[in-house]
Amino acid sequence: MQINAIKILRSKKRRRTVSARMIKDILVVRAPENIPESRLEKVVAELKLRIERKYLKEELNKHEYLSIRAKEFNRQYFENKLNINSIEYVTDQNSKFGCCNYRTGCIRISHRISAMPQWVRDYVVIHELAHLAVPDHSKAFWYIVNRYKLAERARGYLIAAGSEEELMTWK
Ligand SMILES: [Zn+2]
Repeated sequence: MQINAIKILRSKKRRRTVSARMIKDILVVRAPENIPESRLEKVVAELKLRIERKYLKEELNKHEYLSIRAKEFNRQYFENKLNINSIEYVTDQNSKFGCCNYRTGCIRISHRISAMPQWVRDYVVIHELAHLAVPDHSKAFWYIVNRYKLAERARGYLIAAGSEEELMTWK
């Protein structure tokens, strides 16, 4: 799905709010009649971005690539002991590449990772999975992660891609 056109309908009845919905591939925006053009432009851009991110998220998770990979790595590296609740690409996480909640077993991977080579993607998945076993970045954690042969190389790749502490855990 993608947005191919934007249609703006101004209405006297509408007082304050701007709403938007997709009708086929057209983003139909309803706005108050007297809203200033510059304000409307900004709101429409935000709504458009939000919808595009939603579509991208759906697209990236459609084939459950990350879940399948995580299950494989759980077998391969963790004796199937990890409790993975969910792992998915998200489109609202730009400062971190990956995020793991070890209490709930939920892992969120930035959509930016989806465009990286598979060996980097695999590293990010293994890194976050390892947090389900060890929440912090202690020696025990790196011992687990470094069993993945390309771990060091992948870390270098991610650092070069523009983040210092690129992966994070939240409680
Ligand atoms: Zn980490």
